[in-house]
Amino acid sequence: MTPTIAKAAFVLLAVGWYLIRVPFARKSRRTPIARSARGVREITLLSISFTGLGLVPLVYVATGFPKFAAYTFNPVQAFVGVIVTCAALAMFRLTHKALGRNWSVTLEVRENHKLVTEGVYRRIRHPMYTAFWLWAVAQALLLPNFVAGLSGIVGFGTLYLFRVAEEERLMIEAFGEPYRAYMARTGRLIPRIL
Ligand code: SAH
Repeated sequence: MTPTIAKAAFVLLAVGWYLIRVPFARKSRRTPIARSARGVREITLLSISFTGLGLVPLVYVATGFPKFAAYTFNPVQAFVGVIVTCAALAMFRLTHKALGRNWSVTLEVRENHKLVTEGVYRRIRHPMYTAFWLWAVAQALLLPNFVAGLSGIVGFGTLYLFRVAEEERLMIEAFGEPYRAYMARTGRLIPRIL
C-alpha cells in the first residue's frame, strides 16, 4: 500500500458513489414530490457535507493542500481504509436499490411514497447514512492529513446531527404509526446499538 494507491482509492470511492447514484437520481426525479422540507437550512447542510466529504479531500488529492496538516503515511491504516471503502460502496448500492424512486437528496416525500422496511432497511432505518459514515471513516484512514482526512467526519457529522431527527419527524408526519413501530424495532445506524 502506497500513498498514491490510497489517494486513488479515495477517488474511486467518490467516482463509484457518483456512478451508483446517477441512475437512481434520474428515476426519482421523474416522481412528483408530495411533501418537502427543502429550504435554506437543508441546502446549507448539504453544502457543508459536500465540502467535507468531497471538496476538501479532492483538493488535497490534487494539490497536497493543506501541507501543514500532513502526517506520516501508515500502510496498514490505509489498507483498512480500502476495506472500509468497499463496504461504503456496497452499502450505497444496497440502499439505493432498496429505496428506488423513493430516494431524495433532501428531505422529501414523493407521491405514492412507499415506506421501505425490508432488506438493508430491516434492522436499521438510516443505512444510507451508515454508508456516508463509512465514507467519512474511509477518508480518515486513506488520507494522511488531519484536515483532509477528518473533514468528512465533521462535514457529514454536521448534516447527520441536524437532519436525522427532522427526517424522522417528516416520516412520522407522512406514515404515522407504521413509522413509529418501525422506529421502535430498528437502530438508526447500527442494529440495536445506535
Ligand atoms: N435516511 C435514509 C434515507 C436517506 S435519503 C437512509 O439513511 O437510508 C432521504 C429520503 O429518504 C427522505 O427524503 C425520505 O423521504 C426517504 N426515506 C427515509 N427513510 C425511508 C424509508 N424507510 N422508506 C422510504 N423512504 C425513506
